[in-house]
Amino acid sequence: MPTPDARCRSCGSDDLEVFLSLGSTPLADALVRPAAAGEPEARYPLDVAVCPRCSLVQILHEVEPRELFVDNYLYFSSYSPQLLDHARRHADNLVAGRGLDARSLVVEVASNDGYLLRNFVERGIPVLGIDPAPEQAAAASAAGVPTLAEFFGGEMAARLRSAGLRADVIIANNVMAHVPDLNGFVAGIATLLADDGIATIENPSVGELIDRGAFDTIYHEHFCYFSCLSVDALVRRHGLFLNEVEQFPDLHGGTLRWTVSHDPAVGESARAMLDAERAAGLADPAHYRDFGTRVERTTRDLHALLAKLKAGGSTIAAYGAAAKGSTLLNTAGIGTDLVDFVVDRNPHKHGLLMPGVHVPIRPTDALVQDMPDYVLLLAWNFAAEIAAQQHEYLDRGGRFIVPVPTPTVI
Ligand SMILES: [Zn+2]
Repeated sequence: MPTPDARCRSCGSDDLEVFLSLGSTPLADALVRPAAAGEPEARYPLDVAVCPRCSLVQILHEVEPRELFVDNYLYFSSYSPQLLDHARRHADNLVAGRGLDARSLVVEVASNDGYLLRNFVERGIPVLGIDPAPEQAAAASAAGVPTLAEFFGGEMAARLRSAGLRADVIIANNVMAHVPDLNGFVAGIATLLADDGIATIENPSVGELIDRGAFDTIYHEHFCYFSCLSVDALVRRHGLFLNEVEQFPDLHGGTLRWTVSHDPAVGESARAMLDAERAAGLADPAHYRDFGTRVERTTRDLHALLAKLKAGGSTIAAYGAAAKGSTLLNTAGIGTDLVDFVVDRNPHKHGLLMPGVHVPIRPTDALVQDMPDYVLLLAWNFAAEIAAQQHEYLDRGGRFIVPVPTPTVI
């Protein structure tokens, strides 16, 4: 598909190859108030491309970041026990490994409600959080984590450095995918990072996304989808180097942590991962084209399965009112004709409607109360956790449907 205006967000190449079109969808996090259900929603095309030159996977359409992350943002990190545990261990390792103390500075970009930085604050280590979402930044500051409610980039980093700040550690978890000016972001890290400091950057791995068929993590909030190959090329442009890579297969559908610094040493873990990605085909557009074909089959098969169950008189609910759930419902065309309601643990979402398809969101208790015959697991990456939490629903005969990679009733 020709896209004459699109340029790679990393290397600037205009030779991008589109391998998946998910139609025109509303913003995946923009839950709808019932009173506004009659108003038209903004929809944006969701076309995904790979850059054959630097291997960066990216969506072509760019929604204004303020619309994405400030106005409609309901995500508080502290609602996820798994994330809290992951954050605490990361902080423990950094404190021990880097010998951090009261003279150090730890900066976190996209620090949300302070869920990670508070682990350093407890040990008397100075921190600075940066997060443009006002409610989250306010919650963090109230909890003793000093936080600037701004977007991070080259300009802000230069301002902080002029004010005398250099970070011993910069942490950027699940934020680099959200950044429209990718080069400005990495330039900012290079500017703010002390000469002997390290930055740790975490993001879901695009290789894992493809292996697991997790197309539902592709939405407008995520401009880019990273591999070690694309990160290596990106950071080198700014005088930083990929030193080490750690893998967290159970986090956000397969997360990678890239440690980068001004030190050009490519460690064994980084070298091995770069080789493994080349061998897996992540530098080859054909690998992505094949994924696109599989996704089209999955959405078609899922819609057919639900339509068949519904035609047979079954009732269907869904679990997980997060952005990935919205993406899956919208791209597969699953609305209130097939699914009666979605349950979610986050009380901020109850009473609202899923974007686009307007399926109502209820508390998780609704599954046992209403006993729908089937529950479509939109949060299928947490299937085991949800099964444990919903054992009463399952004990009483309820069934789960796992949508990807092949829709299956379990
Ligand atoms: Zn590129």
